[in-house]
Amino acid sequence: MDCIFCRIVAGEIPAEIVYQDELATAFRDIRPQAPVHILIVPNQHLVSIGDILPEHNDLLGRMFAVANQLATQEGVAETGYRLVTNRGEQSGQSVYHLHLHLLGGRWMRWPPG
Ligand code: 5GP
Ligand code: ZN
Repeated sequence: MDCIFCRIVAGEIPAEIVYQDELATAFRDIRPQAPVHILIVPNQHLVSIGDILPEHNDLLGRMFAVANQLATQEGVAETGYRLVTNRGEQSGQSVYHLHLHLLGGRWMRWPPG
């Protein structure tokens, strides 16, 4: 398997894993775009949100609940944060394993407010 996120989930390559359960794994982005930049991924290989079917309801629910829990843990729940998922070339997707970006700890637009 040459998918980098599958290999992180399997523990085959190092990452700063901040959460893992039977459905999802979360780890810090290697090139953070904000003070808090965590990727939440399904343990199973899905290419993008475009692969999501009704049978993935539990998985998606889990990924959002993990994002919520990590936002609180990282101290950005109150100040605010952004959840992003890219699908396909024009979105800028560069790793073809579904992931949510949890971004926080700075203003996401400038000027603030
Ligand atoms: P995308 O552009 O596909 O939405 O996001 C992919 C993200 O994965 C990028 O923010 C990139 O920095 C991150 N990334 C790519 N390779 C690795 C890696 O090996 N380890 C970690 N922790 N993050 C990675
Ligand atoms: Zn994968």
